[in-house]
Amino acid sequence: MLYVSTRGNAPKLGFEEAMLAGLARDGGLYVPESWPQLSPDEIAAFAGLPYEEVALRVMRPYLGGAFGEAEFLDILARAYAGFDHPARCPLRQTGPNDWLLELFHGPTLAFKDVAMQLIGQMFEESLKRNDRRLTIVGATSGDTGSAAIEAFRGRAGVEVFILFPDGRVSEVQRRQMTTPAEANVHALAIDGDFDDAQARVKDMFNDHAFRDAVSLAGVNSINWARVLAQVVYYFTSAVALGAPHRPVSFTVPTGNFGDIFAGHVARRMGLPIDRLVIATNQNDILHRTLATGAHRRAAVHPSMSPSMDIQISSNFERLLFELYDREGPAVAASMEDLRRAGGFDLPQGALGKLREGFDSASASEEETGAAIAAAWHETGELVCPHTAVGLHAARLRRGDTKIPMIVLATAHAAKFPDAVEATTGQRPALPERMADLFDRPERLTRVRNDLAAIEAVVGGERVA
Ligand SMILES: *Cc1c(COP(=O)(O)O)cnc(C)c1O
Repeated sequence: MLYVSTRGNAPKLGFEEAMLAGLARDGGLYVPESWPQLSPDEIAAFAGLPYEEVALRVMRPYLGGAFGEAEFLDILARAYAGFDHPARCPLRQTGPNDWLLELFHGPTLAFKDVAMQLIGQMFEESLKRNDRRLTIVGATSGDTGSAAIEAFRGRAGVEVFILFPDGRVSEVQRRQMTTPAEANVHALAIDGDFDDAQARVKDMFNDHAFRDAVSLAGVNSINWARVLAQVVYYFTSAVALGAPHRPVSFTVPTGNFGDIFAGHVARRMGLPIDRLVIATNQNDILHRTLATGAHRRAAVHPSMSPSMDIQISSNFERLLFELYDREGPAVAASMEDLRRAGGFDLPQGALGKLREGFDSASASEEETGAAIAAAWHETGELVCPHTAVGLHAARLRRGDTKIPMIVLATAHAAKFPDAVEATTGQRPALPERMADLFDRPERLTRVRNDLAAIEAVVGGERVA
């Protein structure tokens, strides 16, 4: 399997190279040349298998021989050993035919761990055998950074720098990034919002001299290996509820569009998904895109679901590539319009295809709070605000009630305790294993929202 850039102007790479590179050299994102197919029989055979076994079967066609089968099963076992539930991503019933897919059983209590723990293991294996060293940079609205630092702390061959918007992540998120003591992980607080942080990371990648000097690699959700790892739980949950013999629907709390794009991939591989609902908070660029056909950025308004406070949804570019019939130059032109003019209009054909594949809804702050309260009063579940955005959207876009609706529960309520307490009166407790988080010493570097300043920190640490 080879990977091509969404902008059509970068060399094709194999799985390992695409994983280690992150962003393509033309500024695009890597996508597989074609979508491997799983037959209904192959999907039906997933029933009852351990998560790791399904992961092997779903991911195998994409790996192109990068890892042997036994080796990859070993990697999967190491990746998920730290999860505190034997099903890894268990389902919980919340209504007659309504389900939460709990993706927060990893070390940092958000779904980012599912992919990050796996790519931490894959990176280490790959770097070891190629005797290489890398500098990983990433931007975070909170959860990616903590998951990355957790996945790479102490790993040989990698230095990790995570940029986060100063003051705009929750205290649990910040502490998860600033308390690991390993010298190879660094939390950088910048004076800007998440989109600034993400833009500076992209700038570093586009500064080819710097990129080569420090061997830059990315683990943001733009990294194909992360998207791929997330495809797995669409299969495990759908099969548990009767797929491929009956369809299921998903609602996905969405920011950077990585998680829901994984659902799109599962569907392209043959999983019968009825509705795929994009759930956004008040930062609703994607909901507006579906409603109007205009993809136009606006100011970011901080919300109680900070991991979705985004106006540039990087992985949307991967879908755009599909909507534009894989015409790289057309994608490049739209992305240039987004950068220069703040937006672009989808051509009619592309908009039609988008609406065929996806539904969307957005939740205001008030609606998010009401959904947290409703979950608590109706089912006794404490849900995080991101999950609540999903519950709100799922209710609006429920469709056929005979089809199971699975809402992705993207974080543990204890990661966002203030919002949960404000609406339910209950303060969700951190799991025992991280009960001392608030006692550990913090370590962070403040840096201006300025490419040269950031490169000095990243390059300096790297050289020293
Ligand atoms: C990252 C994140 C999201 C958004 O996921 P994307 O892949 O960026 O769309 C939603 N909820 C939580 C808790 C997250 O950490």
